[in-house]
Amino acid sequence: MTGSKFDFKEIENKWKTYWEKEKIFKADLSKKNIYSIDTPPPTVSGAMHIGHAFSYSQQDFIARFQRMFLISKNGSVFYPFGTDDNGLPTERLVEKMNNVKSKDMSRESFIKLCLKTLKEILPPFIQDWKNLGISCDYNNVYSTIDNNSRKISQKSFIDLYKKKEIYKKEFPTIWCPECQTPIAQAELEDKEEKSLFSTIKFYCGRKELPIATTRPEMLQACVAVFVHPSDKRYKDFVGKNAKVPLYDFEVPIIADNSANPEKGTGALMVCSYGDKYDVDAINRYKLIPRLIFDKSGRIKDGEYKGLKIKEARKKIIEDLDKKNLIKEKKEIIHVVNVHDKCGTPIEFVTTEQWFIKILDKKNKFIEQGNKIKWYPEFMHKRYNNWINGLEWDWSISRERHFGISIPVWECKKCKEIIIAEEKELPVDPLQEKKKCPKCGENATPEEKVLDTWATSSLTPQITRSLFGNKIILPYSLRPQAHEIIRTWAFYTIVKSYLHEDKIPWKDMMISGFVTLGGEKMSKSKGNVVDPKIVLQNYGADAIRFWAAGSKLGSDMEYQEKDLVSGTKMVNKLINASKFVFMNLGDYNGKKPKKLEKLDELFLNKINLLVKESTENFTNYEYSKVKSDVEHFFWSDFCDNYLEIVKKRIYQGKGEGKISAQYTLYKSLLTILKLIAPIMPFITEEIYQEYFKKTEKVKSIHISEWPEADKIKDSSDFDIIVNNLSFVRQEKSKNKLPLNHPVKEFITMDYSIISNYIEDFMSASGALIIKPGKECKIYLN
Ligand SMILES: [Zn+2]
Ligand SMILES: [Zn+2]
Repeated sequence: MTGSKFDFKEIENKWKTYWEKEKIFKADLSKKNIYSIDTPPPTVSGAMHIGHAFSYSQQDFIARFQRMFLISKNGSVFYPFGTDDNGLPTERLVEKMNNVKSKDMSRESFIKLCLKTLKEILPPFIQDWKNLGISCDYNNVYSTIDNNSRKISQKSFIDLYKKKEIYKKEFPTIWCPECQTPIAQAELEDKEEKSLFSTIKFYCGRKELPIATTRPEMLQACVAVFVHPSDKRYKDFVGKNAKVPLYDFEVPIIADNSANPEKGTGALMVCSYGDKYDVDAINRYKLIPRLIFDKSGRIKDGEYKGLKIKEARKKIIEDLDKKNLIKEKKEIIHVVNVHDKCGTPIEFVTTEQWFIKILDKKNKFIEQGNKIKWYPEFMHKRYNNWINGLEWDWSISRERHFGISIPVWECKKCKEIIIAEEKELPVDPLQEKKKCPKCGENATPEEKVLDTWATSSLTPQITRSLFGNKIILPYSLRPQAHEIIRTWAFYTIVKSYLHEDKIPWKDMMISGFVTLGGEKMSKSKGNVVDPKIVLQNYGADAIRFWAAGSKLGSDMEYQEKDLVSGTKMVNKLINASKFVFMNLGDYNGKKPKKLEKLDELFLNKINLLVKESTENFTNYEYSKVKSDVEHFFWSDFCDNYLEIVKKRIYQGKGEGKISAQYTLYKSLLTILKLIAPIMPFITEEIYQEYFKKTEKVKSIHISEWPEADKIKDSSDFDIIVNNLSFVRQEKSKNKLPLNHPVKEFITMDYSIISNYIEDFMSASGALIIKPGKECKIYLN
């Protein structure tokens, strides 16, 4: 801190470099108590966004707290770092940067190109995390597409296949016609859409049988009509056939309890496949599906061949209208399922896919979730709700070109499935020829790749493998965002259960969103704040201080004024430290034989703050630590304690002075340590400047967390503060300076004040203090 102007960029760079050079964040896995964090790997997209800055800061508070806390407990923090780059966003980024199409390349050469490109773009990307002060061990950074991750992911597939937890089935699966790949239930989002609800005239013989639908383009796919057995309107139709309008083929009319007499006309068409209901209905009655769409969501044949779903719908309604086959039309708003990556309404396409069995273990997964502590607790409910609503096994194969290969070959002749051996991993079946062990025929390689979640659900296994596999499940903590409880959290719990019959982590901390104008920030809405610019203007400590202002799990509105208060805190810490050390020049560093009563009282008060902050950090209540320490520092320490002991320090001699010096040194160091996890740069700067030569530890971040002694009553301090405020207010009411002497002060708290009388007199300027029934002051 040379010069009078504080340059946060300079100090941030200085300590970032120092921490890396001195390996301050390296886990010592030989220690007994390891606090292990299953760090979320950010998706490589070019740059950190403000939501990252928010949630990664929050997890870093905990990592830094635990690192200090465990120093005296034979412990260490394991906080690895990696990036998620085997998904669609990375594929698109690499294509764009290299001006290639992955489809035109072999998978092997595209993965090579990805790895090469990642090597170039990862260092600046990861730098954003370092700039924010995220205290991961960056010495062994992984990527979810690197060889080690591919190996672990394929090994997981093989293990589950051998345990008969994976099966391959031809099945109508949830399909995105835009991305042209099957997707999992967890990747569906609800979207409200305007739609036309048309009542269409089917016929049974010459009798009209009206059916209401939002999807007339599915008429060609109709395989049955359902009515409720108790529905009198259709009693005579059951068992007969209905003629499908426009197409004139006939389908059976079936009485089934699942038909809702209240909905539409009470009769419904079963199509292959409009939704999960259709899939089940067709299965139950063993109806023969009529598949009309191809994988890109276009009609396969007939008059409407080549039309996309919405185009076909429009044309078919026109044609139905022309033939007078529509009874009624009304506009409705209804919810459609769309793919979360692209917003396209999903379809059902029958293809052969790989699944992990999860539906048969719903209770087990709920049980596993109950063994985990959820912070905040209400997030646990979202997990349970998700499992209770599960309708499909986990579809893990994707018809993408880029990704981790499914390590399988199949003999087309005798249907034998050949699984790769562990020593071959990672393997790309497209590059390896295999013969069928049964018939000797050339086996066909599986072309599909694994869902990205099938790999990122293995982050505990991937990260520990990079550090000698010394960590055993469960990890201490999984920090993550709430919108991926149903994917990342759920799938990780699934994998750890299926592989090791364990929960992956003891605790989960789940962060909220950053909002702007009350809405979640998103590029498409254009309401984004670039953390790089915020970092430029306010510095990392101020961003982190802002991120600490939100309770865990709560969303937070981005407001410039919150960053300003972070900057003020930084400046106040600098100024207070300067003041303290200006007055410690002749301090010998020793504890005095006897402490002044007021100093002892103040130390009791800070002891209480230590106890509460320790508990709050342990319970992920970093926002309480932030506001408690902030308040204590400004009010109790700066405005009051410093004022009270000023005179003793300036003019005092002997034990009284040493007592104040000792208390100042100790309390300032304690405040710095308590706020260090939230504001790592400024606390390190002050520590290095003033404390290191006496404390001897090379960084505040690996110094011992203050230990709370037995709690003693410190409420006297608050009474002193209240009395002092009263005196100050009276002076300011009378427009007198704060150091103006007080002729006489009468206080109802005399019995307490009298114990600290000299210090009180010097802080208040009171010449005479007397007891009374109320507080009164005589100024002149
Ligand atoms: Zn899609
Ligand atoms: Zn064979």
